Amino acid sequence: MTFRATILTLYPEMFPGSLDLSLAGKAREDGKWSLETVQIRDFATTRHRNVDDTPAGGGAGMVMRADVLARAIDHAAPADDPRPRLLMSPRGRPLDQKRVRELASGPGAMILCGRFEGVDQRVIEARDLEEVSIGDYILSGGEPAALVLLDAVIRLLPGVMGNNASGEEESFEGGLLEHPQYTRPQIFEGRPIPDVLLSGNHAKIAGWRRGEAERLTRERRADLWERYENRD
Ligand code: SAH
Repeated sequence: MTFRATILTLYPEMFPGSLDLSLAGKAREDGKWSLETVQIRDFATTRHRNVDDTPAGGGAGMVMRADVLARAIDHAAPADDPRPRLLMSPRGRPLDQKRVRELASGPGAMILCGRFEGVDQRVIEARDLEEVSIGDYILSGGEPAALVLLDAVIRLLPGVMGNNASGEEESFEGGLLEHPQYTRPQIFEGRPIPDVLLSGNHAKIAGWRRGEAERLTRERRADLWERYENRD
């Protein structure tokens, strides 16, 4: 099955961007996911092909028009399209590994990238868009956010990551941040690799890693730690 991504954007040149390289690029060549971009401006009907206008009620900046966006959405993902319709938005639910995993197990996604001050509220409601944020900061457009979301999803698609076990030990998968990692050389600028990792004792190594993961999570992420401690 191919994961189908359709991106609605004013800047289709920004895709596939980084997703043409490395794991994601290889996976696209192998047909594990596909990418289609839709130029929102193609759905403008005014003489100057306007996609935005001044905010109702006044204020700075411009807002993307509901009618233009609705036409682009209806073209890209008609009502019977089973894929979720996402809107990258700082007001959205913060993206997490759980949602990434759900998306990766589905048929794909339509992703609308905002620009300017954002999009007219009525198209969000009328087309039932799911607002997704990648963090509490403001980007100049939704495109880098869409690239981030797709990067996270694509590496989880079946057969994309060489060693599938590595996906399960990663930060967040067990509700914890990942333990520290080491590799050669054995001594770097006077700092040795922790002895236990060279002991060959797999149970002790696993215990050390879990302890470090718990310590880091407790120190750095009170939010994750609380959820972890109260897990069932
Ligand atoms: N005026 C808006 C910000 C608009 S930023 C506000 O204050 O909420 C322009 C576009 O960039 C948004 O429409 C959205 O598509 C994208 N964007 C900005 N920050 C983002 C974030 N943290 N996560 C996802 N998308 C974001």
